[in-house]
Amino acid sequence: MTTESWVEVDEDAGFGIENLPYGVFARPGELPRVGVAIGDRVLDLAAMSAAGLVEDRRYFASGSLNAFMVAGRRAWRANRERVTELLTDPSYRDRVEPHLLPVADVELLRPFEVADYVDFYSNEHHAVNTGRIFRPSGDPLPPNWKRLPVGYHGRAGTVYPSGTPIIRPCGQRRAPGDDEPSYGPSLRLDFEAEAGFVAGVPSSAGRGVATGAFRDHVFGYVLVNDWSARDLQAWESQPLGPFLGKSFATSVSSWVVPVAALEAARTDPPVQDPAPLDYLRCDEPWGLDLRLEVLINGQVAARPRFASMYWTSPQQLAHATVNGAPLRTGDLFASGTVSGPERDQRGCMLELSWNGQEPLELPDGTKRTFLEDGDTVTIRAQAPTASGSRITLGEVTGTVHPAQG
Ligand code: MN
Repeated sequence: MTTESWVEVDEDAGFGIENLPYGVFARPGELPRVGVAIGDRVLDLAAMSAAGLVEDRRYFASGSLNAFMVAGRRAWRANRERVTELLTDPSYRDRVEPHLLPVADVELLRPFEVADYVDFYSNEHHAVNTGRIFRPSGDPLPPNWKRLPVGYHGRAGTVYPSGTPIIRPCGQRRAPGDDEPSYGPSLRLDFEAEAGFVAGVPSSAGRGVATGAFRDHVFGYVLVNDWSARDLQAWESQPLGPFLGKSFATSVSSWVVPVAALEAARTDPPVQDPAPLDYLRCDEPWGLDLRLEVLINGQVAARPRFASMYWTSPQQLAHATVNGAPLRTGDLFASGTVSGPERDQRGCMLELSWNGQEPLELPDGTKRTFLEDGDTVTIRAQAPTASGSRITLGEVTGTVHPAQG
């Protein structure tokens, strides 16, 4: 049972009263501030606190979500309840309506300052496909894969907001069959469709964050495109992990969906066999029924299902902190490429074109092995709600521009 908002909402668009995601926006000539999306409007929380309608602790005029994210779960819940009340009780309409701005009239900015950025590799279908492509004769999964959530530290400074142009990276790569490496624009530019969670409340050095404490620290979820230059990556990642093939750009969606908005999306993750070590045990079901959609130039290329992720978010967080490295406000943890057992569920071109051997044909007849200059990649996702409708995680989009090196 959900109360309706007095704001007119197109339920199919997914920005209904059960979502209320946070973002940072600006209007021309004005400072950036925090807002909440409802329908095709953004509720200006800085103006709302100035008017005394929501609690003002200078969270919302700061130009990023970090000040609010550090405030913790009680503050997050109180604000969500208050905003819900203001947007559903018609008696507030006259006072709230002046602070509702059309999304079309504002610029959406990067919603939070990224502290550290970690990317996992937690989808079994993706890991098996990648293993088969690069190690056709061996076991596709390395022996540690079902024992711990494999990941690497990425580059926080190149996490860009949705819509930022993606300049094709240059670098060193060695073409198959060549003895010598060469330098030039990447010839195998790819996307990776992922979702990620954002930490709000820091943790203490020396102590890991237990799986049961996930909600005390994590503020919400975004969509992530982990742009990848496969040729640079394949040549440089021997024997260490991803470096320049990944660090040129990572894109995140404009809206951060609170963990509380995804309660109804929680589902049982795949069975974990062998049973993980104690610090990775998780008593609650933390699979998430997020249905992703990848579009290339507006054409649907894949529909990966996040529910197939082998390792859950609380397990990823417990693992990332188990060595005592403290969590910081703004830490971003991306899931790893979301893939699936069917070809149309694969979340990157490497898998969709099987490393270029099987070009992907889009609905309009165009074919792709990897991304071409001018291509626009958009990832969007929906999740179920308690009332049976759906909410959206918005979208993350980026267009490939020619190399400049
Ligand atoms: Mn990735």
